[in-house]
Amino acid sequence: MPASPSPQPSSQPSSTTARVSRRIGAIAESATLAVDAKAKALKAAGRPVIGFGAGEPDFPTPDYVVEAAVQAAKDPRNHRYSPASGLPELKEAIAEKTLRDSGFRIEANQVLVTNGGKQAVFNTFATLLDPGDEVILPTPFWTTYPESIRLADGVPVEVFAGPENGYKVTVDQLDAAVTERTKVLVFVSPSNPTGAVYSPAETAAIGRWAHDRGLWVVTDEIYEHLTYDDMPFTSIATAVPELAEQVIVLNGVAKTYAMTGWRVGWMAGPVDIIKAATNLQSHSTSNVANVSQRAALAAVSGPLDAVETMKAAFDRRRRAMVAGLNAVPGFSCPTPEGAFYAYVDVRGALGGQHQTSADLAGYILDEAEVAVVPGEAFGPSGFLRLSYALGDDDLAEGVERIQKLLEK
Ligand code: PMP
Repeated sequence: MPASPSPQPSSQPSSTTARVSRRIGAIAESATLAVDAKAKALKAAGRPVIGFGAGEPDFPTPDYVVEAAVQAAKDPRNHRYSPASGLPELKEAIAEKTLRDSGFRIEANQVLVTNGGKQAVFNTFATLLDPGDEVILPTPFWTTYPESIRLADGVPVEVFAGPENGYKVTVDQLDAAVTERTKVLVFVSPSNPTGAVYSPAETAAIGRWAHDRGLWVVTDEIYEHLTYDDMPFTSIATAVPELAEQVIVLNGVAKTYAMTGWRVGWMAGPVDIIKAATNLQSHSTSNVANVSQRAALAAVSGPLDAVETMKAAFDRRRRAMVAGLNAVPGFSCPTPEGAFYAYVDVRGALGGQHQTSADLAGYILDEAEVAVVPGEAFGPSGFLRLSYALGDDDLAEGVERIQKLLEK
């Protein structure tokens, strides 16, 4: 058989070939990052900007976790490639921790350790979705969800729940959104961006609904330890054990142990899915940095004292923030029951100069030098997300500046 000619590099790029692929070109700029970039630029220029944009605890990683990493860095075992799916001892500890914290029983071979919770989100949709598969996405949603669904050629189907419903979708709403193409339901409780927490009964009803329709449930439990006012955390996987073969649990050390920069998360689910997702990861990023995995091992197999301390501070700030924001004309802020975000309904403050929440966020940043994230990052306009993971004094000052600006 004659050898096929090797393709000749063309000197002229074809005019029909875009420089950036359609798939990547379609990714929306993150509104969260846009606000953050503007706030950082102002700060760098010496302006006293107060940032409510951050999605991370303002506490340091606990000492014993850092110490485990220091020791790990000195051990040559950690200087080499390790299994793409994660260190066996870490996967074992994650299985034990999952049983301890949420009552969901899994084995180590049902865990894939990822580069932060974000890679677990990406891997999950890449592994579950075929082109055109629909994913029901309760809205407001964390901004990475629709992008990673679309990157996997899936179709996000937004189901909006406003403050009137405590930012929680109902089974009736889900029923109205389901079609023959629906494959997955996303369930995030406590929620980023709204701080909403589904009760045990609500969680079980939604889990049963998904199971009855043969849907997969992708449940993000990264804020499991941050609930307030005696609101319990409920894992949908435990509430509806029949889901076991069709549930993927996403989690990580970022929020519970103040470890956002260490980049360790995981996905847990049925063995075949984890195996397939591991194949994907083995060609994309391979193993997560061993030093970070050793730090995560110390974190998940250790106590939960650090998160209890953070939680007490977040709870105090949460109350101060909600009270302050509700005093702003046109603002209405329900009390969030979890995570560390307040989601303010600002529809009453729009119109005239500021038609959208993006306009309003821009105005607050320009005039009061306070950074907040507009609802457009998470769904419809009309809302602002403020993180209360910042110092009490900054929080009070920032809320006061917004009050003064909008009282005018
Ligand atoms: N899920 C949710 C709901 C989040 O808010 C975040 C962080 N913003 C993550 C997952 C991912 O966290 P990380 O990649 O830092 O582990």
